[in-house]
Amino acid sequence: MQGEGHNGDRSGTGIRLKGIAISPGIAVARVCLFNDSRHNVITPSLVDDGDVEHQVGRLMDAIRTAAARLEELRGKVEREIGAAEAEIFAAQKMMVQDPGIQKKMVDSIRRDKMGPEMAAMRVLDAYEARISALDNAYLRERATDIGEIKRRILDVLSETRPGLQCEGSGHCSRGRERVVVSAELTPSLTIDLDTAHVRGFVTEHGGVTSHAAILARALGIPAVSGIPGVAGMIACGTEVLVDGDAGEVVIWPEPARVERVRCREAAARRETVMAPVPGLRVMANISIASEAADAESMAAEGIGLYRTEFEFMAAGRVLSEEEQFGRYVSVVKAMNGKPVYIRLLDVGADKQVPGVVIAQEANPALGFRGARLLLQRPDLLTAQARAIARASVFGPVQVTYPMIADVEQFLALKRVFEDAVGRVRSGELRHGVMFEVPAACVEARALLAVADFGSIGTNDLFQYLMALDRNNEMVSRDFRPDHPAFWTILRQVVAAAGAVEKPLSMCGELAGWPQYAGRILQAGIRSVSVSTRLIPAVRKAAQAAVTDHKGDAARE
Ligand code: PEP
Ligand code: MG
Repeated sequence: MQGEGHNGDRSGTGIRLKGIAISPGIAVARVCLFNDSRHNVITPSLVDDGDVEHQVGRLMDAIRTAAARLEELRGKVEREIGAAEAEIFAAQKMMVQDPGIQKKMVDSIRRDKMGPEMAAMRVLDAYEARISALDNAYLRERATDIGEIKRRILDVLSETRPGLQCEGSGHCSRGRERVVVSAELTPSLTIDLDTAHVRGFVTEHGGVTSHAAILARALGIPAVSGIPGVAGMIACGTEVLVDGDAGEVVIWPEPARVERVRCREAAARRETVMAPVPGLRVMANISIASEAADAESMAAEGIGLYRTEFEFMAAGRVLSEEEQFGRYVSVVKAMNGKPVYIRLLDVGADKQVPGVVIAQEANPALGFRGARLLLQRPDLLTAQARAIARASVFGPVQVTYPMIADVEQFLALKRVFEDAVGRVRSGELRHGVMFEVPAACVEARALLAVADFGSIGTNDLFQYLMALDRNNEMVSRDFRPDHPAFWTILRQVVAAAGAVEKPLSMCGELAGWPQYAGRILQAGIRSVSVSTRLIPAVRKAAQAAVTDHKGDAARE
């Protein structure tokens, strides 16, 4: 298919592919294909007797290069994200250099006369299969690492860029602006991509409120999903326009349109910080601690949602109390006295953490997730509670409880939290509820009577209210945030908060859509939390809505 893909000098023809807009913005760049299955099929070849040592040498060189690349990646992740996250690459490097594995591969070349590609594939596939069959979920996760190191060794042998497949044009080499096209974009994949050069994402699968889409929005990268077969349709190096506002991808876009996009990009780069506006507090959603500095520089009025499970996902394991404390305290300090809402771990469904054992579930979104999982794993909650309490000494911290369904569940979790904190020195801690399960919204008044605050999670609330999978692009077209049922339930929560005089905020993705700012204000919400990059646009829209409203009132 690759050879039949759209490529060549056909600029200006403008073929349109309709998909789903999952991250706003428009970008133009050449395509790099992300191809996870690029080495699934290898042509077998036998090595001549006289060539054996040369092929052994090729294999050993490839192993050294793969180890050096992993070391590079480890250093990059340690500098940009953190030491714990970097460990996953240190562990992969150790596996690449394992003498037992190397010996088996060398034996396959010397004894069985296999080419180094085939030897690496056979040996590592056998390890992967054995580990996958183990009765231990944590170890089974390591099988993914074996697959990853196999691809890295084969990438070096075949001179392919890790993760990116480029035939002919060599466009995927570092330092070039690109649109990454893949079957699927997973949250951990985005960490491995050279995001500084990624201008857009195009994927076959993934809904508008999937966590990968949330990351794309946090990075400010336009993305379109829901284009069946797209990964086999466009060749590397083809120029495309990704319209993350309209949910459209244009192959060989018209030059005039390309020019408009380039002007818009230049203007966006000049976009300045916008100071807070009266009438709507705008805070930032973050997933990892290092994003707090960005939020502060964009004049966020606090961190309204810190999705702590992403720290665990980035590290690829459960973090200790000490490691969590390090992250939380750095966020609290970066925000200089502004409030930080730290959400307790919301693991489960599409957010899996190795070491948090979750059996295969038929309906993970309705299964072992968020509050339910925390109640079954008090060890996780205990370490997190103590780390949060210690961080609260350095600034105002609010604790947000995810996926709460009723009062009993909230109080049970709060008890575990408070027992865990015990005598740990802490600041004043407030405990609040995410309103993202419809039952909690129906019970909002009772919940807010016992909680200190509420935060509306529109992503899950919409998913569960409308029975609409947030990760499934096949149903994304039914994601209609103007649905009356949604606004009715929202107003009920606002009324409940008013009745018991408890603060309420909104932190789901809808809060960051400037076109809804007026409607959110009208519904009585005065505080939102959005992706850092969206803060100026939301403030502008809120300011315009407040001005319009004043104008209307004056005319009446
Ligand atoms: C939500 O559901 O709206 C929310 C903010 O939480 P998450 O997107 O992390 O599930
Ligand atoms: Mg949620």
